Parts: sequence; structure tokens; C-alpha cells
Amino acid sequence: MSLAENLNHAIERIERARIAYDRHHIVKIVAVSKYSSASEIAALYEAGQRAFGENRVQDLKQKSEELCDLPLEWHFIGTLQSNKINALLALRPTLLHSLHSLELALELHKRLEREDSHLSALLQINSAREESKSGFLPEEALETYARLQEECPRIALEGVMSIGAHSEDSRLIQKSFETTQGIFETLKPRGARTLSMGMSGDFELAIACGSNLLRLGSTLFKA
Ligand SMILES: *Cc1c(COP(=O)(O)O)cnc(C)c1O
Repeated sequence: MSLAENLNHAIERIERARIAYDRHHIVKIVAVSKYSSASEIAALYEAGQRAFGENRVQDLKQKSEELCDLPLEWHFIGTLQSNKINALLALRPTLLHSLHSLELALELHKRLEREDSHLSALLQINSAREESKSGFLPEEALETYARLQEECPRIALEGVMSIGAHSEDSRLIQKSFETTQGIFETLKPRGARTLSMGMSGDFELAIACGSNLLRLGSTLFKA
């Protein structure tokens, strides 16, 4: 299948899941291009895709510079190391999905203040409580969100992000999504409007749990 066909196929599946959830629900796709070349990204852009995501700062820099003539939107979805903060901020990403620790937030805020700029971000929740994953535990999420809004006003928190439980059992994945959805709903009065959940293997389930931002890699870029 061509990349355009992959995209069409994904959109059809998203539409069915979205309408089953709520006709008025809007779902956006971030195409995760971490294993893809600039020419593949350009091909998906030609098919209508605008938002792309990378998990390494170096790759984001290289691909966004190579494709700077296209009006693309770049998202950072990986675990950000503090020695890469300046490099990431220089690229002015549309959204950081993976704000995973207090130290990172404080460091980001300090640099943003110095540069008199802002960064939109999502709080990453480790809702399946997996050691291999970054993010805040569910019970820390509400207090941390409020604290960051208070102490780090240069980070514009727009909601939460989560990776579904690493499991073959869809009930466990669903449970992890529902945990994040509950946190998102509680944070709506604080301005949360983005719920980033769902990858190639579990995006329909994520939509059924209220996700409005999908991070799709392999299903879009597979040959
Ligand atoms: C790689 C990656 C994705 C996309 O994964 P696919 O299964 O290829 O869709 C989504 N989110 C994060 C954080 C990733 O690292």
C-alpha cells in the first residue's frame, strides 16, 4: 500500500471509532516519523498529513530542517534529557507530549524564562505503573499539574499523554487508558483539552476512552 492509502485506511478506522464514541468528538493524528525518512514524510504531507512527531531531538532537528519549506507541525514525543532542552526549544515544537518529571519541568521553565518564550506541553502519565516507562503516577498527576501551572507559567499545560499498558490483554490496555481519561476529565476545569493516547496497535480503544490526539507510526509508514 502507498502511504496515502495507509493514511486513508487509518482515517476510515478512526472515523468509525470516533462516531461510535461521539459524533461531535474531534480526533487529530500526529504521524510518528521516527523510523521514516524526510521523503516519506513529504509523501504523507502530500496526502494531507500536517502534524509529525519525533522522539529524538537530533532527528527532529534534522528532519524539520530538511523539510522547512513545508508547513509542517512538529511534536516531540520522546523522553527529553535535560542536556537536550536548549536544542529542543530552539526548534520551537508545537507540543511536547512527554513532560515526565518535576526536574525537567523546572529546568524547562528556567530556560523559557531566560528566552522570554513559552512551550505547550502535556503531562505524561504512567497509568499502567510500568518501570520501563517515564511519567507521573496517576496519584501524583492532579497535584503536579496544579503545581506546574502555579510554578512554571511559561509551560502552557494543555492536557495529558499516556502510553497504553504493554500487554496483549486489551482489558489491561483499556484500564490504563481509563485511568488517564479520568485524570483528564478531572483536569478539564484547569484548562486541559488534549488527551494524547493511542498508537498503531490500540488507537480505536484509545478513542473509545476519549482520546483526541493519536500518535500513529507504523500503521501510517509501513510499506
Ligand atoms: C513510536 C511511538 C509511537 C508510535 O508507535 P506505533 O506503534 O508505531 O504507532 C507513539 N508514541 C510514542 C511515545 C512512541 O515512541
